[in-house]
Amino acid sequence: MPAYHELTPAQKARRRRKKRKETLKVLGALALALLIVILGIVFAIRGIIHLFTRDRHKAQQTTSAEVVTIDDVIAEADRLAEGYDCDAAIEKIKSYSENYQYNNKLNDAVERYEAKKETLVPFTDIDSITHIFFHTLIVDCSLAFNVEDKNQAAGYNQYMTTVSEFKKMMEQMYERGYVLVDLHQIASIQTDENGNEKMVPTPIMLPEGKKPFVMSQDDVCYYYYMDGAGFATKIVIGEDGMPTCEYKNPDGTVVTGDYDLVPILEHFIDEHPDFSYRGARAALAFTGYDGVLGYRTSPSSDSCTNDYSEEEVEKAKAVAERLKECGWTLASHSWGHQRYGAIEYEKMVEDADKWEKEVEPIIGECDTIIYANGNDIAGVEDYDGNPKYEYLKGLGFRYFCNVDSSRYWVQLGGDYLRQGRRNFDGYRMYYNPEMLEDCIDVSEVWDKERPAEVPPI
Ligand SMILES: [Zn+2]
Repeated sequence: MPAYHELTPAQKARRRRKKRKETLKVLGALALALLIVILGIVFAIRGIIHLFTRDRHKAQQTTSAEVVTIDDVIAEADRLAEGYDCDAAIEKIKSYSENYQYNNKLNDAVERYEAKKETLVPFTDIDSITHIFFHTLIVDCSLAFNVEDKNQAAGYNQYMTTVSEFKKMMEQMYERGYVLVDLHQIASIQTDENGNEKMVPTPIMLPEGKKPFVMSQDDVCYYYYMDGAGFATKIVIGEDGMPTCEYKNPDGTVVTGDYDLVPILEHFIDEHPDFSYRGARAALAFTGYDGVLGYRTSPSSDSCTNDYSEEEVEKAKAVAERLKECGWTLASHSWGHQRYGAIEYEKMVEDADKWEKEVEPIIGECDTIIYANGNDIAGVEDYDGNPKYEYLKGLGFRYFCNVDSSRYWVQLGGDYLRQGRRNFDGYRMYYNPEMLEDCIDVSEVWDKERPAEVPPI
């Protein structure tokens, strides 16, 4: 036996095998770790590539050269959140990228919208929602107040508001915390399990202190009698795809731009997205006898005989469609500017049917009536059992607006909403400026180009 412990060849071989096994184990573990790291890197890179290639995909899908970048999508979502629709803003980001958390900009945006959402409180006192209304705005005072027909000039003085006054009114209401809402955002029809319709109020979610209000514009027809009197002549779709107005200068040249309420309000909201609640716009009301929106669309009216054509109808339809896409509510103002409250039931039915036949196919399904002359079919009592109401309801109307000089008048019926509207016009500003104090300061708004006095009605 050797003096020292020497391994036998068999022992040596065992040891070598053991060592090899251990080395293989270590190598295997290392390979596994490497694989995990590589996979991790691959997934991370895929995520990042996904975020950026979405832009290209979207651009291809939209067929336009426009590329939707992260900044674009955040800008769009910011606007939604500024209009108090935080859920829609969050959804916009999430639908842009499922991996939004891995992008600081996108993740910060979502956190911002979630924080803003926490600051909104329900405005539930619908009885205190005021509704203001206008007629076609006066662009050129020197023309409107000097038309040959003195009664007409007096009417413009009493019932109209100038472009400059309207702009100042919007500025002041914005500064005072008013936020434009749509009638349908105040309350909407819900159907219960028995199929019964019920008009149910919807809480409007606004920051503390903000005040919702409704706006409407009557007779958005650009009547023949207003030709050459300093008013816009029609609503068209502008080069930017937004509704705008055409205006004919006295020398016959035609220009487009901010010549009436629609484009002025669009631009105002564009500058102040927090002036409009979740995309709300005003309600626009139409009679039928001279056509709508400046297009001569009535085949039955004497005034339109020479100018009516299918082409006019198609043009009006396209503008109406665009207005609705932009959030405007389109409403009935009766076909012949009829006083629905004062006239006989049969006369009202005849007029309402005519409106349904000639105007509704252009503006699409309509659930809102803005009574001509503010002449409601009932007094302050509700509509229950009112045959005129039953008829109008049968035609699909659920929202009814009259004219009321008080600040607020809202009636929530079982299956309808009624609201009083206030005229912000020459007459009210001249005779009762204090009645408008909650919204505007007449002394700052009054257009110096108006005649100094407004004749009594
Ligand atoms: Zn009217």
